[in-house]
Amino acid sequence: MKVMKFGGTSVGKPERMHEVSKLITKDEESKIVVLSALSGTTNSLVAISDALSKNDKKAAKEKIDTLEGHYHNFIKELVTGDAAYAKAKTIVAEHFEFLNITLKISHNEALYKDILAQGELLSTKLFCLFLEEAGIDHQYLAALDFMRIDEHDEPALDTIKTLLEQTLKQYPDKKIFITQGYICRNAKSEVDNLKRGGSDYSASLIAAATNSTVCEIWTDIDGMHNNDPRIVNKTRPIEQLSFDEAAELAYFGAKILHPTCIWPAQLAKVPVKLLNTMQPEAAGTTIQEEASSDGVKAVAAKDGIIAIKIKSSRMLLAYGFLRKIFEVFEKYRTSIDMVTTSEVAVSLTIDNDAYLSQIVEELKTFGTVEIDNDQTIVSIVGNEITETEDLLENLFETLKGIPVRMVNYGGSRHNISILIPKAFKEQTLQQLNKGLFGLE
Ligand code: ADP
Ligand code: ASP
Ligand code: MG
Repeated sequence: MKVMKFGGTSVGKPERMHEVSKLITKDEESKIVVLSALSGTTNSLVAISDALSKNDKKAAKEKIDTLEGHYHNFIKELVTGDAAYAKAKTIVAEHFEFLNITLKISHNEALYKDILAQGELLSTKLFCLFLEEAGIDHQYLAALDFMRIDEHDEPALDTIKTLLEQTLKQYPDKKIFITQGYICRNAKSEVDNLKRGGSDYSASLIAAATNSTVCEIWTDIDGMHNNDPRIVNKTRPIEQLSFDEAAELAYFGAKILHPTCIWPAQLAKVPVKLLNTMQPEAAGTTIQEEASSDGVKAVAAKDGIIAIKIKSSRMLLAYGFLRKIFEVFEKYRTSIDMVTTSEVAVSLTIDNDAYLSQIVEELKTFGTVEIDNDQTIVSIVGNEITETEDLLENLFETLKGIPVRMVNYGGSRHNISILIPKAFKEQTLQQLNKGLFGLE
């Protein structure tokens, strides 16, 4: 069994869906094909939900109608026969009927998640319809039957494994299974999701649950690049990464992968391949246990970081001080990314501001608290980089002119992170591209 995941742009146009059908029929291996919503759909669904939560029904209705128009145009070119077209219209009508009903009922968190789920439900049903018309044997699987998260919103891998095994057993003769990325059920059995970009996470979880030979992530670029191609002009793909390197890059902002999608594949030792739907012959990036070489592989940036400094003269030589501070974050289930300490102060960063005011109130009992919003973590990632000779010298030379707020070195052997104001992100990534990779 293998897993093939196709992202939004890979299914975003009828001709792209046609291409996907060729890619999944290239070999005989059994496969679970995980699809995202058509590109732009989840953003539109978020906007519809936001309008509903503000009770702006007019804006919500306009957005629903625009999105529906988009799907009507899409299906005209997706299928050719009248019968298939009629079925496609029925699928679209069913989901937009649901969206129109949401205009009439009161908005809440559960409904919000239901709205967000429509994108993946539509893309998979429409793709199956296309496969049916093209005579490609396949089986639709409802991800809501087996994808589960627990009461802490963490994937319940054992449950997923059991449920998926039971589901697959029903179709011993099928070789191609189509299912939704991103969506799942939570501990209350409500429809939920694995957060934005979560289809990668679905793919990795399904690959781990089925002990797949490979987890292929098909997207619109030829693998993980050494720097963010949206910001820096000249970047190059990386042929091989270890799970640890890829996990650091994903977590610290390389958008090509969902932040936490590596661990299931790593746990089950399933190699992950990043491949380009527009250029299927390109080598892409292979992610596996062993690193191919030491040294810097890539840099990535993560925005939306809040730096918190707690200053206390009482901290001097006080054991237990850090524990008390960390307990506050634990209480509010807010994870810390970077930490530095001096004799009188602790600086740390978080990316989730849901409980910021409560956290700050409690921290004030330990000393003065300063907050810096709009910070960015820039991570320099590579196997054993903290052992790489001259790297620090080169790095600080390269960072000339950048107001570095914090540095994390030595926490992981694969990562050096710096904290900068977001306004300096572009300049930092460009200077690193030149200084560390010789690219400009
Ligand atoms: P999909 O819809 O297929 O999941 P995403 O948009 O989530 O695709 O991820 C692919 C995009 O990630 C690329 O188009 C690219 O702009 C962006 N990206 C950011 N950092 C990197 C990187 N280091 N390497 C490759 N792509 C990156
Ligand atoms: N459709 C979802 C999103 O846009 C999940 C994904 O594409 O991975 O976030
Ligand atoms: Mg993505």
